[in-house]
Amino acid sequence: MPANLTLETLKTAFDAGDIDTVLVVFPDMQGRLMGKRFHAGFFLDGGHKETHCCNYLLALDMEMNTVPGYRSAGWEQGYGDYVMRPDLTTLRRLPWLPGTAMVICDLLDHHTHEEVAVSPRAILKRQIARARDMGFDAMMATELEFYLFDNSYESLRGGIAGLTPSSGYNEDYHIFQTTREEDVMRAVRNHLYGAGIPVESTKGEADAGQVEVNYRYSDALDTADNHTIIKQGVKEIAWSRGKSVTFMAKYDTAKAGSAAHVHQSLWADGKPAFHDPDDAHGMSATMKHFLAGQLAGADQMMVFLAPYVNSYKRFCAGLFAPTKAVWSCDNRTAGFRVCGEGTRAVRVECRIPGADANPYLACAALLAAGLDGIDRKLDLEPEMRGDLYQAGHVQEVPRTLRDAADRLKASDLYRRAFGDDVVDHYHHAAEWEIAETDRVVTDHDLRRLLERA
Ligand code: ADP
Repeated sequence: MPANLTLETLKTAFDAGDIDTVLVVFPDMQGRLMGKRFHAGFFLDGGHKETHCCNYLLALDMEMNTVPGYRSAGWEQGYGDYVMRPDLTTLRRLPWLPGTAMVICDLLDHHTHEEVAVSPRAILKRQIARARDMGFDAMMATELEFYLFDNSYESLRGGIAGLTPSSGYNEDYHIFQTTREEDVMRAVRNHLYGAGIPVESTKGEADAGQVEVNYRYSDALDTADNHTIIKQGVKEIAWSRGKSVTFMAKYDTAKAGSAAHVHQSLWADGKPAFHDPDDAHGMSATMKHFLAGQLAGADQMMVFLAPYVNSYKRFCAGLFAPTKAVWSCDNRTAGFRVCGEGTRAVRVECRIPGADANPYLACAALLAAGLDGIDRKLDLEPEMRGDLYQAGHVQEVPRTLRDAADRLKASDLYRRAFGDDVVDHYHHAAEWEIAETDRVVTDHDLRRLLERA
């Protein structure tokens, strides 16, 4: 796999005429990349040190509405600037865009040059630093699912009546159907690999047109960056071929939702801290406390794993999305599935996050709860087995954003781990999503009520 660029190798590529553009970007609250396109000459001449953006970019909704009520930015404060400081370790080519490289930035306060507390990348970096202080490296991977459609985005602007999934049938592990998608998916694997993303595989998933990208686990920040670049790359590659994709958690009531399962392990001194060969499941005491912490915080972390009203429509029985916040070994009906039981690769797979989650926030929320479990030496409840969709009297995954928002607001765990500013900011984002959805007349309203009300 090609190594990332340095300023020196970028300069060589620029001088040779191979690269002329550098995308200078950061992930926003929704996990989108925002930023500017720099001429590579300007970037090399000093543009790599810092640039600026309007601070409304961490106080927007998906539609770019200026949302009132945030403390960090608003009309009252005059919507000032943030500093964008390139993290040069992320500088890489984007092989699917001609002559283009990209660098991910951290956001700093314009005056103090401190990292902006509500920035998703800063939130994750703080939890990673906390893990390091406790002697651990946090390793994670996400498994990103999405739907591929034969329509172009442009053709869907007038309405989605003609939306056509790339497959006519469930393509889970299906080789013939996925052969028919290779125009997009082969390009996805090879272009992402060329961008330094350690792609392992792509596969068909559990409904018509649904596919998944897997890539090798890495430290949590690298993983959140990789996830974000994969999402951007998949969209751009599909778009360049006249196709479209969606990372919505649930685009069709009858179809499986799209997840972003998060695999997690802690390592100490280069060794897996989750493994104990003498334990019945091969799980160390550290892993048990970590998992117990995540179970204890599961209800409070939901805004970060499932940020929209739509996200909660994914949590239904029988379609591989979890409905119960319990743990079980190699059991896809559990919210927390232990994988690699008894091996050095023993790890927790949290199956709750949707493909619509911001990976920085989802990874940070999971890590914060796990570390809290270690801190407090929480006991792990007994493993649940069997079809957990049917299990009674166990912790349910919150089923609405309303419930999730209330639990975040009241969360001592996240107020301690993230700080009040961050909790209040993302609680406000959830409240806004709820208010916007309540306000808008939907197709569902019309179908149900137009004639019969
Ligand atoms: P599955 O059976 O769920 O498909 P895989 O073997 O494909 O499992 O692994 C799923 C993901 O877990 C991959 O992205 C892989 O890199 C990641 N993974 C493997 N080992 C670890 C680990 N120790 N910590 C975190 N993630 C890991």
